[in-house]
Amino acid sequence: MYPIGQRKCLQCAEFYRPDSRNRKRQKYCRRPECVRASKGASQRRWLGKPENQDYFNGAENGERVRAWRKAHPGYWRKKSAEPGNALQETLISQVAQVKQEAAQDGAFALQDLLRSQDPLTLGLMMRVTDLALQEDIVGMTQRLIIQGRAAMR
Ligand SMILES: [Zn+2]
Repeated sequence: MYPIGQRKCLQCAEFYRPDSRNRKRQKYCRRPECVRASKGASQRRWLGKPENQDYFNGAENGERVRAWRKAHPGYWRKKSAEPGNALQETLISQVAQVKQEAAQDGAFALQDLLRSQDPLTLGLMMRVTDLALQEDIVGMTQRLIIQGRAAMR
């Protein structure tokens, strides 16, 4: 009933010829909306796996936050219910210090960056600093901003 060598797309239900290198896994045709649907489905599959559900908020991450706290005891005077909030407080409390050090740069935008509480930015900074726990998270942010600005010139 299927035309030889063809397959029905899960999204648009049209027949298509799967890519020869990806014959086993391909379930969608190459139309843009079907490629999008395919990406969405694989992302949902990935997030649905139990080992991936703790990827961002799991025990490992909590462990890193605790290790970071231990290495930076001065930043943790305030008690906080969640590690996430505590980290955010840390970021904000470090801003004042760094801002003084960077006062010569009048257009310094780090405070705005952190105040925006953009989850992508904060999450990214957590990942980046995970690579080097001793690294000062604000110092790292500052260097990234300086590099980013240099690249935009
Ligand atoms: Zn399709």
